[in-house]
Amino acid sequence: MVEQSNDTTAVTLPEGTELLERLMSLCKRRGFVYQNSEIYGGVAGLYDFGPLGVEMRRNLKNLWWTYMVQTRDNVVGIEGAILTHPRVWEASGHVENFSDPLVDCKSCRRRFRADHLVEANGGVMPRVCPECGGELTEPRRFNLLMETELGVVEGERMKTYLRGEACQNIYLDWDNVMKSSRVRIPFGICQIGKAFRNEVTLGPYIMRQREFEQWDLQFFVHPNEMERWFAYWQEERSTWCRSLINRAERVRLRPHAQDELAHYAKRATDIEYEVPGMGWKEWEGIHWRGDWDLRRHGEFSGQDLSYTDPVTNERYIPWIVEASGGVDRTFFYLLVDAYDEEIVNGEKRTVLRLHKKVAPYKVAVLPLSKKPELTEPARAIWRTLAPLFTTEYDETQAIGRRYRRQDEIGTPYCVTFDFQSLEDQAVTIRERDSMTQRRVPIADLPAILVQDLA
Ligand code: ATP
Repeated sequence: MVEQSNDTTAVTLPEGTELLERLMSLCKRRGFVYQNSEIYGGVAGLYDFGPLGVEMRRNLKNLWWTYMVQTRDNVVGIEGAILTHPRVWEASGHVENFSDPLVDCKSCRRRFRADHLVEANGGVMPRVCPECGGELTEPRRFNLLMETELGVVEGERMKTYLRGEACQNIYLDWDNVMKSSRVRIPFGICQIGKAFRNEVTLGPYIMRQREFEQWDLQFFVHPNEMERWFAYWQEERSTWCRSLINRAERVRLRPHAQDELAHYAKRATDIEYEVPGMGWKEWEGIHWRGDWDLRRHGEFSGQDLSYTDPVTNERYIPWIVEASGGVDRTFFYLLVDAYDEEIVNGEKRTVLRLHKKVAPYKVAVLPLSKKPELTEPARAIWRTLAPLFTTEYDETQAIGRRYRRQDEIGTPYCVTFDFQSLEDQAVTIRERDSMTQRRVPIADLPAILVQDLA
């Protein structure tokens, strides 16, 4: 066994840009996130996810789905196409209203969102560019929808849009879901899917991208019940966000002021996360969409999207509470929350203290040396564990360095097979956060890990 006793000292953690730089470096070095099209110089606001990133995203999406759909008897899911009929975006109000106020600097040509400049400047619009001091243009509206075309014959192609928000499919399918399943109001429809926006201000990092993934709940209620469900989903969603992080005090609910409401919302509350050195940022939005969506799609399509209560026969257009969040933004905040550094026995240890259910790998199996008498039984252990949870096998480098690597990618448990294991048929389990080690019989290992990771 190694690292029997550890002399650990806390260090002051980086904040703001420095924290971002360290995270970005870790994410690239270890295979969480890459710049998209990097070999061509990259494209701003587009990212790819590497082997660890994809595991973590799958975990996040599964956790969300379990919490929002699988464990509720009044919520079902759909998966809609990214492309839709172009009228959808007229009905939704996005063609007309989905825009940000934009200003340009006349000297350095940089672009800014006017509302971001106001926020950074204590509530008033600055007169000059924050980067170079040059003169700024008047704010102009800039539509965020990305256009594309459907069809093959030149001249007969239909202009449409990549969806600017994933949730529209839910309104388009709501009548079909109602008729094809046993749901009755109040009920919800969930979806996870990509959305696309020509954002004016990108970043920081993956927080605001041009292509990203959203998870949405649209919850359909009787208008008289709206207040109750609006409060209910604020509580549910913020509780879920807090349950995944180490510092729950970095989450708060912030009701929107009237002048920041989206065109479809009568009221809204943001769940916000406090990024160290950057302040409070939106994590998810809980929106009071009322009857806006079904009424507009009813009008534009000519279809009746109203609901008839099977008991009272009352006919009405349901109102909607929306809980809309981002997979990428959650991914980013969880990395920020998990990032930690400390000095252990005189050396810096970087550790991602990720929630066990979020961590890309749950277990790493490490033979103490590369000798076949150790690697072969260690591989056999890997083969037993791999169907149960994401498990990495690693035999390169000294054991101490392999532990550090697993710490840095947030693996909760390392299982070490050493020479003693050949004698006692036992292995060491080392825990990521405390670095404590315990010896367990190989025969009991799967059951112990299943329990610890539950
Ligand atoms: P922001 O102004 O903070 O970019 P928004 O108010 O435009 O966000 P919504 O339209 O309410 O965001 O979208 C719901 C959620 O989708 C957001 O809370 C966020 O988690 C995520 N999201 C929105 N835009 C982006 C983006 N460009 N990149 C990554 N995630 C996004």
